[in-house]
Amino acid sequence: MSIAENIARLKEEIAQACAKAGRDAGAVQLMAVSKVHPVEAIVEAYAAGQRLFGENRVQEFQEKSERVAELAGAKFHLIGPLQSNKTNKAAELFDAIDAVDSLKIAQRLETAATALRKRLPVLIEVKLSHEESKHGVGPDELAGLLDAMSGFEFVKAVGLMTVPPWSEDAETARPYFRELRRLRDEAVKRHPAVTQLSMGMSNDFAVAIEEGSTCVRVGTAIFGKRVYAAGA
Ligand SMILES: *Cc1c(COP(=O)(O)O)cnc(C)c1O
Repeated sequence: MSIAENIARLKEEIAQACAKAGRDAGAVQLMAVSKVHPVEAIVEAYAAGQRLFGENRVQEFQEKSERVAELAGAKFHLIGPLQSNKTNKAAELFDAIDAVDSLKIAQRLETAATALRKRLPVLIEVKLSHEESKHGVGPDELAGLLDAMSGFEFVKAVGLMTVPPWSEDAETARPYFRELRRLRDEAVKRHPAVTQLSMGMSNDFAVAIEEGSTCVRVGTAIFGKRVYAAGA
């Protein structure tokens, strides 16, 4: 299947999941996660009408950025963890940062965005499982982080994201999606801009949509398996 066919099929599946959940099909954005894949794959998806892309490493996207700059209207979000020494680059290169996981990172992004006079929407990554490998703030730290960020001028928290533990069975992820939505419903009372819910990947996006996702991050189901170079 081509990238264009995959995107068309996914849009249908997203519309079906929305219908099943009684939600408007326009309420869920499809993000194409292009990490590890070459610029040619991004261009192919763009030609098929795709405009929202996710990359998970600053360095990798920097290498791609010159060649994707000509894709008018394409938006690139950072969806992977951000180290503090890369915040300037990230603020410069990306349209949004979808995995802010500490006040320190948020503050550094605000400093960088202020210098660039660039509005930078961000999502807060919330860690809902106890896996060592997962990033994000704990649910009990979320309110404090959002309060601390509320005075920022250029960086604005517009929602939450999470990555549940990987499982073959999409149902395993449902409680995590439900919990993120509950946290969003709570947060939006004090911070009305915090509306978005980035949750759901190739194997569990339909469940995420049933639980209220507003953006599904899909890599494998669009671009195929990621093949990492030896030693990478
Ligand atoms: C890689 C990645 C995805 C896409 O995963 P697939 O299973 O390939 O769809 C989504 N979200 C994040 C944060 C990722 O790093």
